Amino acid sequence: MRDKPRLILGIALVLSLGFAVMAAVNYHVSRNALRNAILAAELPLTIDHLYAEIRKELARPVFVASMMATDTFLRDWVLEGEREEERVIRYLTEIQRRHRSTESFFVSERSRKYYDPNGVLKNVRDGSSRDRWYFRLRELPQDFEINLDHDMAHQDALTIFINHRVTDYGGNFLGAAGVGFSVASLNTLMERYQEYYGRGIYFVDPRGVILLTARKPAVEGQNIHDVEGLGALASTILGSLDGTYEYRRDGTNHLLNVRFLPELNWYLFVEKEEDAALSPLRRTLYLNLAVCVVVTTLVLAAVTWTLNRYQERLEIMATTDKLTGLTNRQAFEPLMARALDRARREGSPVTALMADIDKFKDVNDRWGHLAGDETLRHIAQIFRETLGDGALICRWGGEEFLVLLPGHDRHEGELRGEALRRAVEERPASFGNDQIVLSVSVGVTPFGAEDSEEKLLGRVDRALYLAKGAGRNQVAVLP
Ligand code: GH3
Ligand code: MG
Ligand code: MG
Repeated sequence: MRDKPRLILGIALVLSLGFAVMAAVNYHVSRNALRNAILAAELPLTIDHLYAEIRKELARPVFVASMMATDTFLRDWVLEGEREEERVIRYLTEIQRRHRSTESFFVSERSRKYYDPNGVLKNVRDGSSRDRWYFRLRELPQDFEINLDHDMAHQDALTIFINHRVTDYGGNFLGAAGVGFSVASLNTLMERYQEYYGRGIYFVDPRGVILLTARKPAVEGQNIHDVEGLGALASTILGSLDGTYEYRRDGTNHLLNVRFLPELNWYLFVEKEEDAALSPLRRTLYLNLAVCVVVTTLVLAAVTWTLNRYQERLEIMATTDKLTGLTNRQAFEPLMARALDRARREGSPVTALMADIDKFKDVNDRWGHLAGDETLRHIAQIFRETLGDGALICRWGGEEFLVLLPGHDRHEGELRGEALRRAVEERPASFGNDQIVLSVSVGVTPFGAEDSEEKLLGRVDRALYLAKGAGRNQVAVLP
C-alpha cells in the first residue's frame, strides 16, 4: 500500500494526458476543418455574392452610358458643330435627373470641351493627369470602361465613372459620354457584408493601391505592398486572377480570398481573422478541458475511496481470526505489548486470563468439525458479552483464548474468570437439534512490576494447567 500515492499519481497522469491529447487533437481537426471551410467556401461565396451585387449596381449606369453614346441627338449635335451649347447641357441635366446619377458628362473630341449639367466644366488636356482617362478611352478597343476617380464637379468626391466611347455613324471617334455615381451605395453594400459577416472587404487596383474599403485595417490609398504581412504576397496576388492566401498582421492570422473583377479592372479582397472565427472552438476546448478536470477528479476520488476500503478490509483480514472474529495472535502481540507498557508507566494493574475449552476433542469426535467450529464461535460470543469493551480478547490457539484486562487487579480478574466459566457452563452451544454442554478451565494471573511478557504468559499458562489438573471447569489463580 506504499504504492498508493504512486498509483493515484499514475492514474491522474494517464487520465489527464489522455484527455489533453484528445482535446488537442479534437481542436486541431476542427480548426483545420473550419479554416478549410472559410477558405474554400465561405470567403469565395462572399465574393460571389458581392460580385453579383456589384454587377447589379453597375448594370444601370452602364446601360445609361451606352444609351447616351448611341443617342442620335448627341451625335448629330456634335456632327453639326456643337452649336447652342445649352441644348447639350439640358440633355445632360435631364439624364442626371432621370437616372439620379451624381454626374453626367460629354467630352468632345473636336473641341476637347467637358460638358456637364452646369455647363462647360473645363477643357481636357493631353498630359494632364486628371484627364488621362479620356486619352486612355480614346485608344480603348472596348466601348467603355469603369473608372474610380475624384469628381471635379462635386468637390472631388470619390466617384465611379462609366466612360463610354461615342462614335459617328461611320465609327469615327467623337468623344466620351457617361455618368458618374457616388461610391456611397457600394460602400453601404460593403459595410453590410463587413458588419454582418465580420469580414474585411476592399478593392485594390492592379498596381496594388487600396481603392475602397469600409473598415480598418485596410486604408484607402495605401499600397498592399506596404501592408504588414500582405506585402510579401502582393506580387503573387496581383499576378493571378484569383487565389487563396494566408498572412499575419497585428499578431493575428488572416485568411484571404482575392478575385479579379474584369469589368472594374479591380481586385476584390475578402478576408477574415482566423482568431475571431476560432473563438467558439476555443470555448469548446476550454469546456472540454474543464470536463476532463472534473472527470479526472471524480475518477481519482473513486479510486482513492476504493483503495482505502480495500486497505481497511486487508487490515481487518490480517488482524482478525476468521472463525471467531476475535483478534488473532499475530495482531494481539503488539496490543499486549502496548497495554503492558502503559501499565508499567502508569503503575495501573493488568490481569491476564488463559481459557481452554474442556474436552474439546470429544466435541469434534462426536459431532464433527463443523460443530466444533460452531462451538468456538459460540464461546467467543460468550467471551465478548461477558468481558465487555475494555478487555483485549485473542484466539491464542485452537481452542485457547488469551484475555488481558487492563485496569483490573488479580481479584477482579478472578471474578471475571469465574463469570466466564459460569456463562459457558450455563449456555450450551446449539448444533442442529443438539445442545452441546461445554465447560472451560481458566488460569488467572496479575501482571507484576517485575514481569516480562514471557513470564506473564508462562505463569498464566501454568495457572490454566493447574485448573485442568484440579479437574477442569474451574478457575485457578497464580499470584
Ligand atoms: P482438554 O480438556 O485437555 O483441553 O482436552 P481437549 O480435547 O480440549 O484437548 P486437546 O488439546 O487434546 O484437543 C484440542 C482439540 O481442539 C484438537 C483439535 O482438533 C481441536 N481444534 C483445534 N482447533 C480447532 C478448530 O479450529 N476447529 C475445530 N473444530 N476443532 C479444533
Ligand atoms: Mg482443551
Ligand atoms: Mg488446548
